[in-house]
Amino acid sequence: MKFDYDLFVIGAGSGGVRAARIASQAGARVAIAEEYRIGGTCVIRGCVPKKFLVYGAEFSQFFSDAAGYGWTLSNPRFDWPTLRDNVQKEVTRLSGIYTSNLIKAGVTPFEERAELVDAHTVRLMKSGSEISAERILIATGGRPLLPDGLPGVELGITSNEAFLLDQLPRRIVIAGGGYVALEFANIFHGLGVETHIVHRGDRVLRGFDDDLRAHLHIETERSGIKLTMRNTFSKIIKTGDGLRVILTNGEHVDTDQVLFAIGRHPNTRGLGLERAGVAVDKYGAVVVDEYSKSSVASIYAIGDVTNRVNLTPVAIRDGHAFADTVYNNRPTPVDHRNVPSAVFGRPPIGTVGLGEGDARLSHGDVHIYRTNFRPMRNMISGNQERTLMKLVVDARTDALLGVHIAGEDAPEMAQLAAVAVKAGLTKKQWDSTVALHPTAAEELMLMRERMVAPNSAA
Ligand SMILES: Cc1cc2nc3c(=O)[nH]c(=O)nc-3n(C[C@H](O)[C@H](O)[C@H](O)COP(=O)(O)OP(=O)(O)OC[C@H]3O[C@@H](n4cnc5c(N)ncnc54)[C@H](O)[C@@H]3O)c2cc1C
Repeated sequence: MKFDYDLFVIGAGSGGVRAARIASQAGARVAIAEEYRIGGTCVIRGCVPKKFLVYGAEFSQFFSDAAGYGWTLSNPRFDWPTLRDNVQKEVTRLSGIYTSNLIKAGVTPFEERAELVDAHTVRLMKSGSEISAERILIATGGRPLLPDGLPGVELGITSNEAFLLDQLPRRIVIAGGGYVALEFANIFHGLGVETHIVHRGDRVLRGFDDDLRAHLHIETERSGIKLTMRNTFSKIIKTGDGLRVILTNGEHVDTDQVLFAIGRHPNTRGLGLERAGVAVDKYGAVVVDEYSKSSVASIYAIGDVTNRVNLTPVAIRDGHAFADTVYNNRPTPVDHRNVPSAVFGRPPIGTVGLGEGDARLSHGDVHIYRTNFRPMRNMISGNQERTLMKLVVDARTDALLGVHIAGEDAPEMAQLAAVAVKAGLTKKQWDSTVALHPTAAEELMLMRERMVAPNSAA
């Protein structure tokens, strides 16, 4: 045979593993390289360990809510090494399952870094061997950004290191206002750490519906997390008992830990894409067509490295669609519209479809339905957290364009609401569904009065 393999996948994360397995099951000879741990960001240092930490952090609120329900808890205490090590045990178990599933499917794993030599060849960087393949799939994901040239940047950590801290800091400053920043802020806050977010924008969660953003801003502050907006770091210095962050407005914050959560970039640095002639955009993302094919016919790219919708289920879809297109003779483009997403903050967010601002831009006239209430669960606990629900509807066709929820179980609700938005159901059809009582979700069915005036512009 002309090539060592039919397919060589670089990166064993959500997308790469799925693509490798499906291609191999379709009869292709497949190898995969992973430079860190098989499973990728989601399993090793993203969604999975994060959700466990979210669960762990939630207990502090449960404990304080419990009193109103008649429970007395004597001085609950938290032990970080126990949670950290239990999470890591589960992560290791899952990584093992990913590895054995690859092997069972007939894929050859190489646990080392791979770089491109040309359009059909990769070099394994530890062993130095060169391997040829008819096709190469780039599935190298993303990496956390660090602020360029910030004095003292080396004193901070990113989400990668946050899972493995030796000890929980007493105080933390988090730079950033995206979902990773907010989620870690709530994790640390819930675990008893004095938490401070510094963000250069004037609100958290850019890209989400404006009402959700405003709601999360209010609730995050109310929960006790300090928010400093329209500000960034100018320097970090070591002090006698920790770190000092000097802000661009001249103020400073004393802390024990700094976490950078200012965004992620496609992981293409040093990959050798230029040697193979693969086109990338200004962020370094591999430019691909709807079938994930790059500018070079033998090279494809999927998942976060293409910077389309950077979520695990999307990377998996991309990987599966690539393998179906190329190895199962079923050309499958991936539809990246109406992908639901969540932010596991306090309260959590679940959202799908267009926010009000984007809907006005793309559809013109829209109808808005909105409710803001204190959920039943909080009434006798004294918890002041409020829930926001919002529907965005096309005024012309009555089609449901977006469902946006901030409240307990919002991500679970959004997964199901996504079916309605994806299917293009109308508000009339949505309303014809009988409510389920007593739930918070029933409020989604009971929004009949539309807002009179637009409440937020794009
Ligand atoms: C803190 C955090 C929380 C997140 N939470 C969520 C969530 O709740 N829900 C959700 O859907 N998404 C979440 N994400 C995003 C999600 O993790 C990614 O969208 C997903 O992992 C992308 O999959 P991928 O296959 O494209 O890349 P990845 O999973 O990143 O896999 C890429 C792999 O390639 C490896 N690699 C890179 N370069 C090379 C090379 N040259 N040679 C060999 N191996 C290489 C990397 O080590 C990595 O293992 C989160 C991300 C982070 C950082």
